[in-house]
Amino acid sequence: MKHDNAKLISDIGELTALFTDAAHLDALLQNIVNKIAAHMNADTCSIYLFNDETQMLTLKATKGLRAGSIGKVCLKPGEGLTGISFKERRTVCEGDAARNPGYRPVPGVGEEKYCSFLAIPILRGQTRIGVMTIQSVKKNYFSDEDINIFNAITSQLTSTIEMVKLLSSFAHAQAGQIVEAKPTRLKFIQGRGGSEGLAIGDSVVIVPLSLESFKVPKGSKASGIDDFRRAVAQAEKELHEIERAGEERQIGMVALIFSAQIMMLKDRAILGAMETLIGKGMPPEDAVCTVIQEYVTRFDLMANEYVREKRYDVLDVGRRILVNMAGRVDALDQYAGKVVIVRELLPTSVLKLSLQGVAGIVLLSGGVTSHMTILARSLHIPLVIVNESRLLTVKNGTRILLDGLTGYVCIDPDEAVIRAYRDKQASSADVKRIQREMTDQSRTKDGVRVVLLSNINLLADLATARAFKSEGVGLYRSEFPFLLRGDFPSEEEQYVIYRRLVHDMKGREITFRTLDVGGDKMLSYYDYSKEANPFLGLRSIRFSLKHRDIFIHQLRAILRAGFDADIRIMFPMISSVEEFVLARDLVRESARGLKAEGVAHQASPFIGAMIEVPSILEVIDELAAEADFFSIGTNDLIQYMLAVDRTNEKVAEFYFPHHPAVLRAMKRVADAALRHQRDISVCGDMAHDPRYISFLLGIGIRKLSLDARHLPRIQQCIAAVDTRQAELFAARILKKTNVNEIARMLDADVLEKVSIKLVTGMAKK
Ligand code: PEP
Ligand code: MG
Repeated sequence: MKHDNAKLISDIGELTALFTDAAHLDALLQNIVNKIAAHMNADTCSIYLFNDETQMLTLKATKGLRAGSIGKVCLKPGEGLTGISFKERRTVCEGDAARNPGYRPVPGVGEEKYCSFLAIPILRGQTRIGVMTIQSVKKNYFSDEDINIFNAITSQLTSTIEMVKLLSSFAHAQAGQIVEAKPTRLKFIQGRGGSEGLAIGDSVVIVPLSLESFKVPKGSKASGIDDFRRAVAQAEKELHEIERAGEERQIGMVALIFSAQIMMLKDRAILGAMETLIGKGMPPEDAVCTVIQEYVTRFDLMANEYVREKRYDVLDVGRRILVNMAGRVDALDQYAGKVVIVRELLPTSVLKLSLQGVAGIVLLSGGVTSHMTILARSLHIPLVIVNESRLLTVKNGTRILLDGLTGYVCIDPDEAVIRAYRDKQASSADVKRIQREMTDQSRTKDGVRVVLLSNINLLADLATARAFKSEGVGLYRSEFPFLLRGDFPSEEEQYVIYRRLVHDMKGREITFRTLDVGGDKMLSYYDYSKEANPFLGLRSIRFSLKHRDIFIHQLRAILRAGFDADIRIMFPMISSVEEFVLARDLVRESARGLKAEGVAHQASPFIGAMIEVPSILEVIDELAAEADFFSIGTNDLIQYMLAVDRTNEKVAEFYFPHHPAVLRAMKRVADAALRHQRDISVCGDMAHDPRYISFLLGIGIRKLSLDARHLPRIQQCIAAVDTRQAELFAARILKKTNVNEIARMLDADVLEKVSIKLVTGMAKK
């Protein structure tokens, strides 16, 4: 080995940081080649990107070739070794390039003096994006290991380079800025990916509705009372249709969220007031506007913030009647196929948007682990979080493209960009292939068994969980049915949902997390007194213990639903041993009650605690003596350990899953579980991030629960880990205190796994 590849890998963190720091797209590519050339001790490193219009490879950045050649050197696919690598989608490595019959040095760039030549195609699936080349004056300079490393780096950079390539067509915009609108230019913004998926659609900026636009101008013909009644009947029919759509999509009790609007539509006081005004000669349109406005004002005056939100329901009802009266386009379609730009969202709004077939959401507040984002993932709505309020000024009807994975939002993209993205979408065929390649059980490279479970938010998630061979449910977020409806669900209503979950998972283990409301999961129908810090307030288990009747209903519903199944119950946000014992005793009491009533139920479920609050770390051994299992909720554990609001985009840069305090806390929990022979899992977002898998296995975690769509990737990742090496790796990480150093070590480790995969792939060929 002539140069330090290990250093190159460990510097990948820094390299990727360049993507966000680079102020200029061309500079970004230049940074990449500079960095790689320096690390590889090579004489040149260059990036060529394929231009769809000219069908040529263009030199976009180079370190070592003549600088003036950037943008000027163009190669046909198949031309020279670079062109061959691109055309044939293969690595070309020559110790003495001139001996290859395909060798054609590009005239005027000074290539002739380089002997060793390595070209790696930049591919996404089968789609060719470009080529990265690297050269040295020395003969036989690049080793097989270099090829693997270079391959790994190229695949790591593919999505960024692809995006750069797309964006380079709209010239010199700066990352993180919106470029002023020019009809032929694309504007773009870099946000954070919240819910994966691609959306292309016309924008709708959601702002409070204006009823005024429906008022009848003086002298114009107004509708009659019959039109009004027909419009009301039509509105009711539409709302029932939405309810049914919700049921069909198996979203649980969600359809009930529309009950509030249906009730408003049937409400004698509201309709009566409208009819009275119409009877007095007011045009029906104006009567609707007047009465709705009165109600909006009343809701606005309510002390309770969550009741105030009802203003949107009453406005929605009013708009629906008015749209029907005006014979305008079906109100149901108002968000169908659209990309919605909105400052804040309620769970019910996410659901309504989903039922109406929204294409995607750009959210101007919230974090990637916020519950609106989690809900959007369950509903398969691509969502990007962007901290840029100028997006609210985008004109409705502007074409928007958003990529929920990378967080890119393009405004008014041209057809080539849309085409490129649509191709990208087509490569989800890769996912299907991986699905076929999945095994029923997951094992590490050295054969250690790891159990992969799913996090389930809505029943609709079960289909993905089953498709990706989930071994059970490690976290059922039971609060979602509570969040998505207009009132507390009864024991019976909960039983129906839980039973369906048990039935659909056929004998596999299911962990019910009891109600976890509060924080960013406020119940619209609960009268919270205003809390300055809801994440530190009446949240999770505190809420359940304060409202025993609600808690007991839930526990009874769970115990009944799991009478013949392997169900487990866990409590969120446990902060002391007494709290756990109190909650656990309520489970036992509920079971005794059911027994006395002669109702079939699960008498002895496993009962465990989520590890999310730092205080519990200090009493973890005592807790282990009481609890049957632990599940580490890393989303909250990070939030509370680091004092960083997980939903606040402004402090997202301080939210470090790999902070040494977090990693050491996890190790303490894992050790305690091991000492007391307690089951332990990780169910926060760290469980689906390949970067943390070695570490988690290294500290002894053998059970992970994650969003089902990540299961294939994580199974693959586990298969590349040797547990003995992982233990050494975790021990090394746990000695470190510097967050950046830890990040680099984690990146280097995951990259090594990528290169292992590449080596295996090549061996097969
Ligand atoms: C967590 O906090 O990591 C967790 C899994 O729970 P939730 O994201 O629902 O708060
Ligand atoms: Mg949590």
